[in-house]
Amino acid sequence: MDGLMMDFPLNLNYILQRAHKLFPRKEIATKVGSAMHRYTYADFYERVNRLAHVLDSLGVGPGDRVGTFAWNTYRHLEAYFAIPCKGSVLHTLNIRLFPEQIVYIINHAADKVILVDQTLLPLLEKLAGRLPTVKHYIVMADGAYQTTLTPHSSYEQLLRDAPSGRYAWPEIPENQAAAMCYTSGTTGNPKGVLYSHRAIVLHSFSECMADSVGLTERDTVMPVVPMFHANAWGLPFSATMVGSRQVYPGPHLQPRDLAELIQEEKITVAAGVPTIWLGLYHLLERERYDISSLRVMPVGGSAAPRSMIEGYQKKLGATILHAWGMTEMTPIGTVSQLKSHMLSWPEDEQFAIRAKQGVMVPGVELRGVDNEGKEIPWDGQIMGELQVRGPWIIREYYHEPNSSASFMDGWFRTGDVVTIDPEGYIQIVDRTKDLVKSGGEWISTVDLENQIMGHPKVLEAAVIAVSHPKWQERPLACVVPKPDFKDHLTGEEILEYLRSRVARWWLPDDVVFIESVPKTSVGKFDKKVLRERFKNHILPDM
Ligand code: ADP
Repeated sequence: MDGLMMDFPLNLNYILQRAHKLFPRKEIATKVGSAMHRYTYADFYERVNRLAHVLDSLGVGPGDRVGTFAWNTYRHLEAYFAIPCKGSVLHTLNIRLFPEQIVYIINHAADKVILVDQTLLPLLEKLAGRLPTVKHYIVMADGAYQTTLTPHSSYEQLLRDAPSGRYAWPEIPENQAAAMCYTSGTTGNPKGVLYSHRAIVLHSFSECMADSVGLTERDTVMPVVPMFHANAWGLPFSATMVGSRQVYPGPHLQPRDLAELIQEEKITVAAGVPTIWLGLYHLLERERYDISSLRVMPVGGSAAPRSMIEGYQKKLGATILHAWGMTEMTPIGTVSQLKSHMLSWPEDEQFAIRAKQGVMVPGVELRGVDNEGKEIPWDGQIMGELQVRGPWIIREYYHEPNSSASFMDGWFRTGDVVTIDPEGYIQIVDRTKDLVKSGGEWISTVDLENQIMGHPKVLEAAVIAVSHPKWQERPLACVVPKPDFKDHLTGEEILEYLRSRVARWWLPDDVVFIESVPKTSVGKFDKKVLRERFKNHILPDM
């Protein structure tokens, strides 16, 4: 039709060129050993050009997949842009998966080249004999290294030898693939998610909105969430788009490392899963660090316990921003910001809202659907499966013939069970497969866990379903006491604490104490392992 707007492709080249033109002096810093590697966006741009030349010289063409097996570093960021901006596909590999899964994923994606961090060489070397599609390994090392991978080259040497002239960046249609990531596959094989340029650019716009994460040029952003976990929630892309200062922790993810980085680098936005921030919280309870630079800590990947949100706010003055998303969603779906009329609410009610997963961000549409396929009302009570649609949500899994079960009338079925309140805030009640189905009613294990983790003597808690002769399933609480209370915490204390906080029939039938809650490759509670361990647990008669 006449009189319409330009057909301007939303691609990552646009973000890269913008950053190069506007922010050449901004810094990108990475923790390397006990020191920091620092350079500017101008240096970054120069190296991104060189990396694109290098990939050409290795025969990496349009649409070819290039794997990265790496921590959060400036080199990984270079790969984040050089690969998609030259028309190939950035495939971030989750270094924490089982070897079998990594082999499956690399073969399924048919990666042609893999960029690997020196410290991760031993992991990859064990698998190399089973990766027929990989034609070349590029080792990202700070000095000399040794490897059995063949053929291999040094990243730094390749960059030094590459032409220094500007790369002729192609014009990339916005619906071309830019990146891919496999879900960790709690059941069955991992499934591939292919992100388009358009999806990532629109997601970046949304992430930078003030009512979302709200990144700005004034921010110093530290993605603690791995760059192999849903593109570190898109932060490397959106931070580059708006020219934030960026800080990458490398492999240094212990609470003390993070506390030092926040203090020394004056981080304003630090993003990670709840387990990371729980660990930091317990350090900050004991030792003083200045974390006053923090403006917001986006937390997602699993439920942020209300006690943690409250603790950070009241004791440390730091604001946690609860968000929900999925690998299949580039990944952000909802963010929990208070609406203006809630600012005058009592503190207790405000925290209740902030502990929910929030409202759909602009660009995402959501609904809850019950067992019969009917949409649930927004009453904050009735549970249903969360379904979503939007320009950064997958249409199908990559080369996966059985994708259709994950979709319903053009909506993606998330597998999460939610309630939606009248203000539109969703609360993740559970994952469908984790719910305790007790006598036909559902008990939210997430809710129970969050309550238990509010107990002052508890470090972590996971609740699982255990089979029960009468009720079909009943909850079992697996609790990790804080080190000071090891052997000084009883199951009865936990149950007593819960009695005033949850419905009577929700009370766990038993409490067991464990050393630690097993974690998945991306730091979530691995209830599969606990279910297996306690599958024959005999519940006491209640
Ligand atoms: P995986 O499926 O490998 O765990 P994802 O990181 O994509 O990988 O997981 C997405 C899932 O994580 C969601 O479907 C949901 O169950 C859970 N999740 C993400 N954010 C939250 C949150 N804020 N609260 C509760 N659960 C969450």
